[in-house]
Amino acid sequence: MTYPRVEINLSLIKKNAMNIVELCYKYGIEVMGITKGVCALEPVVQTMIEGGVKKLGDSRIKNIVKLKSFGVNLPVYLIRIPMPSEINDVVNFADGSFNSEFEVIKLISQKAVENGKVHKIILMVDVGDLREGVMPEDVKDLVGKILELPGIEFEGIGTNVGCYGGVLPSIENTSILVEIAEELEKFYGIRVKTISGGNTATLKMVEEGVLPRRINQLRIGEAILLGTDSTNFRKIPNTYQNTVILKAQVIEVKTKPSKPIGEIGRDAFGNIPVFEDKGPMKRAIVALGKQDCRIEGLIPDEDHINILGASSDHLILDVTNSLKEIRVGSIIDFKMNYGTMLGLITSPYVEKIVV
Ligand SMILES: *Cc1c(COP(=O)(O)O)cnc(C)c1O
Repeated sequence: MTYPRVEINLSLIKKNAMNIVELCYKYGIEVMGITKGVCALEPVVQTMIEGGVKKLGDSRIKNIVKLKSFGVNLPVYLIRIPMPSEINDVVNFADGSFNSEFEVIKLISQKAVENGKVHKIILMVDVGDLREGVMPEDVKDLVGKILELPGIEFEGIGTNVGCYGGVLPSIENTSILVEIAEELEKFYGIRVKTISGGNTATLKMVEEGVLPRRINQLRIGEAILLGTDSTNFRKIPNTYQNTVILKAQVIEVKTKPSKPIGEIGRDAFGNIPVFEDKGPMKRAIVALGKQDCRIEGLIPDEDHINILGASSDHLILDVTNSLKEIRVGSIIDFKMNYGTMLGLITSPYVEKIVV
């Protein structure tokens, strides 16, 4: 066996997907399974599909090319607004994309016509989180221009909150989308087929039965993959959290003082570290570091083990009170949050195993 390794439990992820799909189905909401958290790892994507998601989305066109090359036949959407430099792949590999810039949509239109395709567009509206999206007052004019473009199907509108500005989904900000959709329908005599109302953070409103009725799509990654909602700081009801486990190996165990000896300069990342003197402690070094993931999001599976810190390649643990005997070669298990999972799955130094 090689370490560090991430073990992904497919049967738990499938149950998570099934339960979320079922919850959303009751309210007429389709689930777009978001695969970026696992770099569109094939077995995990297949598991999401078995769990009942009807569409897939990823933020990276490379992941979408990979998805299509292993023969996924569900519609796949690029959920990060596209770079002008990737339009060729976007048109050839994605069925649709989320957009906010007319210039880019025009490029997509040209490419789609050239390649004999029709590309679906969901226009992102910024309802307050201040990441991507058109301001609400600008949507109507822009949609008018999109409707005239050849090779483009205007599928609907969407929004994202909870990712950059930390704005929580609310009745107010999700209602803005529905109002805009209805205004577009009246003004242009069209039907806005898809209203993509948000991500994992929006599930709370679904559970409470307060999400405006016309919202008929959510884009769900974290809730399926980890059973958590970091924006609302909660576990999703009826899901499992022990889906993804990191296993890393101990390379040194020694009793050392808890406070470094000598004059303190800056650490490898430019910070001045501060240490409390807690007397001698039993310390273990694990072969994993900041090059692999955000250490702050790692949680030792055993409560009595504490993370002291890390450099690029060494994770230092306080194992003084560990119930297990920790030796060189011992394997330590960790749970993680979404941001840390992203890093681990992306790191070429970390083995990915499905169980
Ligand atoms: C990552 C992402 C999602 C999925 O968010 P989760 O919180 O993982 O459900 C949805 N929409 C967009 C635009 C994203 O970038």
